[in-house]
Amino acid sequence: MPGRAEGGNPRSRLLQDEFPLTHTPPKILISACLLGQPVRYDGKGKPLSHPAIERWRKEGRLVTICPEMAGGMPVPRPPAEIEKGASGLDVLEGRARVLEVTGGDVTAQFIAGAERALAFARANGCTYALLIDGSPSCGSVAIYDGSFSGVKHAGNGVTAALLEKAGIAVFSPADIDRLDALTH
Ligand code: SF4
Repeated sequence: MPGRAEGGNPRSRLLQDEFPLTHTPPKILISACLLGQPVRYDGKGKPLSHPAIERWRKEGRLVTICPEMAGGMPVPRPPAEIEKGASGLDVLEGRARVLEVTGGDVTAQFIAGAERALAFARANGCTYALLIDGSPSCGSVAIYDGSFSGVKHAGNGVTAALLEKAGIAVFSPADIDRLDALTH
């Protein structure tokens, strides 16, 4: 159309040049064991070495939690899996339990830990989470099938399921580059 200005209102462009919009990169909820904290069932961490982690740490953008400890579980503790090939959403909706290899039912602790993780994420303004995969709490891509035989299936853990239900985008360590690109 003749005479139509391209690229927006010149006055608003001028204002943006004078008063640039500030951009605050989002905070990221992260599994404590990914930072090397000794919170896993076996008393160990599982540190992830990646330049983005150190950068996010320096920028004060990491919000750290271990959902299982937040749910009241000790270190060390027996390994646990979601029963019968079910997933985190099944646990949240009462269709499956989380059982220890010793037979203990730790469903309530896993749900409590997930709720605390969500409350912590919201209190800190996290819209993204980086959670270790394979865990019955934090797993976001694949979890163990409940047989304690090392077999995994596609599915997520209880905390990952609750965070996703609440609109928090959950990433696994394998997807850290995509998370980094999205949260600059
Ligand atoms: S609950 Fe999550 S943060 Fe805690 S040990 Fe398991 S994977 Fe790591």
